[in-house]
Amino acid sequence: MIPQPWTPRPTPAHDPLTPSRDVTHRHFQAGEQVIVLKGVAGGELWGDVMRIVAPSWHTPTDEDGWRLRDATGGAQTYVTAHPRYLVHLSRRCPDCLIYLRAMEDRLLPKYAGHDSLVDCGWYTVTALNQLVHIADARSGR
Ligand SMILES: [Zn+2]
Repeated sequence: MIPQPWTPRPTPAHDPLTPSRDVTHRHFQAGEQVIVLKGVAGGELWGDVMRIVAPSWHTPTDEDGWRLRDATGGAQTYVTAHPRYLVHLSRRCPDCLIYLRAMEDRLLPKYAGHDSLVDCGWYTVTALNQLVHIADARSGR
């Protein structure tokens, strides 16, 4: 990851919610627009908006994942993510809304004083363009 000087580095928020989400692979389908939450900006949740392209094996978790296209991703235009990293944007989905609200309740008070963008640093991208949540990276696979 390239350090970005304009990004403040407050204490990263622990994220126990994403790893514990129970989301099946078929909860999503190709063509849907999703967001991967990465932090807070201007008092709202912030993340990368991407479009689901096709099923793809998520090697860090050895489970079915989705290949995503990030139009602003540059060298990382295509990444593969685990379904639990994704939140529906293209339709209002109760399961995803519950997760969104829980993330808001947890994060927004914590960064209430920050007007600028806060990247919580939960995600990295491997050399094989696999998006990995910090909790999955720690599992040693
Ligand atoms: Zn959903």
